[in-house]
Amino acid sequence: MSTPTTSNHTVSDIREAILSRRRFLITSHARPDGDSIGSQLAMAYALEALGKEVRLVNADPAPEHYLEFPGVDRIEVAREILERDADALIVMESSDLRRTGVAGLEGRFTINIDHHQGNSVYGDLNWLDESAAACGELVFELIGSLGVPLTLEIATHIYLAILTDTGSFHHSNITPKTFDICRQTVTAGVNPAAMARRVFDSNSFGKLKLIGALLDEMDLRDDGRLAVLYLNDDILNATNTTYNDTEGLINLPLTAREIQAVAFFKVGADGDIRVSLRSKYDVDVRSVAGRHGGGGHKNAAGFTVRGPLADVRPGIIREIEQAIAAGMQSRPE
Ligand code: 5GP
Ligand code: MN
Repeated sequence: MSTPTTSNHTVSDIREAILSRRRFLITSHARPDGDSIGSQLAMAYALEALGKEVRLVNADPAPEHYLEFPGVDRIEVAREILERDADALIVMESSDLRRTGVAGLEGRFTINIDHHQGNSVYGDLNWLDESAAACGELVFELIGSLGVPLTLEIATHIYLAILTDTGSFHHSNITPKTFDICRQTVTAGVNPAAMARRVFDSNSFGKLKLIGALLDEMDLRDDGRLAVLYLNDDILNATNTTYNDTEGLINLPLTAREIQAVAFFKVGADGDIRVSLRSKYDVDVRSVAGRHGGGGHKNAAGFTVRGPLADVRPGIIREIEQAIAAGMQSRPE
């Protein structure tokens, strides 16, 4: 186990740095998710409420079902930023600058906000809190300390961040604070039913077919404790779907009582294999991802390896089975 990263700056350090600057560039990790997008946009709206200028940049587009959320269409998709006119760069939930997938970010005044284990502490200011269920929880606290009122746009993005990064309130890092923040967002006008429908019930018919095809081929191991899913271009073509349609699909096998962990191998045409991992309770899949240069959280992690699949798969599966055995030893009643 790596030693937990401790934050070396406080929310008031970040607050001061923000108040004394005017132009901000906000980015997050490649293949953005609900937490990174929600954290970026909540921050952007709050900065604009203070009269600041904000530019949002990500390496990859937001998944399609997030496009209708306020401001998501403002996020530029770029692999490199050449302009150096911002006074500060704010990076959300990225363990290092490389993870943004955006080149040219080095050498700027950088505010690093993250809730993952293993952040490399690359910012001029670093606010790292692994106890937060979502980066959006940290952004919520920061926005409060800046004195910005919780508008519907800000509340929507904070709720989006928490709803998605807790795996719709399934993961084990949820605290009373999580619900207190959600309570405040609902008071500010967020409709939880509509949010859940928009985030989780926006599948295309193609995606339903894709789910069927993947579950049909699901490989059960370790006496049914581990489910392994495989994706390749042939399945996508047969169901008329794209890589983006795979979001959230990894959680489905966990709805079976016996299944303790899921591994999802997405084999790209370039030979790279994206491995996504999910688990229940104390089964720690982050430690598996960490051994392969990836990261994440105890119950949700990922990494990328070079194929061929047949060479790398047995070792990865063995490591997950070991994590399951270790995690099964402690279980809530
Ligand atoms: P997903 O499986 O949805 O891509 O990722 C699940 C979690 O693992 C997220 O919290 C994400 O930030 C983290 N994660 C996924 N891939 C990587 C990776 O390659 N490196 C690191 N550091 N974290 C990752
Ligand atoms: Mn997150």
